[in-house]
Amino acid sequence: MRSLPHITIACSAIWASSRLLGANRRGRALAKSSGGVDSAENGQTMRPSEIDYRLVALGSLLPDTVDRIQRAVFRLRRSSPDQHFLGHTLLLNIPLLFAGIYFWRRYRDGRLLAVSAAAMTHLLVDPVIRSPDTLFWPLLGFEFPAARGLSRRVTVVTQIAAAAVVVITALALQRRDRLGEFITSGRL
Ligand SMILES: [Zn+2]
Repeated sequence: MRSLPHITIACSAIWASSRLLGANRRGRALAKSSGGVDSAENGQTMRPSEIDYRLVALGSLLPDTVDRIQRAVFRLRRSSPDQHFLGHTLLLNIPLLFAGIYFWRRYRDGRLLAVSAAAMTHLLVDPVIRSPDTLFWPLLGFEFPAARGLSRRVTVVTQIAAAAVVVITALALQRRDRLGEFITSGRL
């Protein structure tokens, strides 16, 4: 999959899950509420306004970036465009996600979590999801076999859908006079 669909899928998934989790916590806090502190405000859930979507966009491209660096450093040649390397393994992405959760819970610093959660969404929608040998590398062997990629038609459709999401989001932000703020802060 190309970059733009990865960016839009990561941003949409993280935006939706942060809202869902936030709403869930607010609901539970209200149910328990007896005039005390709203646990949604002090809880462990990252609020949508705390997420820097520029980092989410960066994280959504992290697996491909790591692979590119690995190929350049080790002069690896891909057997096909759908051959993936270390950047697409859980060996790299799971510890990164846990580190992100740790920094968020310990210091309320959500930057690494934004990057690592976005990188995980990349794996979920990439052709690599069909390649357990790469995902679970090196548990199933040391090879990095090529995964079956999306057809050209599906790739074009995902590109068009992603471009439409970007345009619609930009127009909505512009209408609310928040496009400039988004560019400088990354907040939606
Ligand atoms: Zn990829």
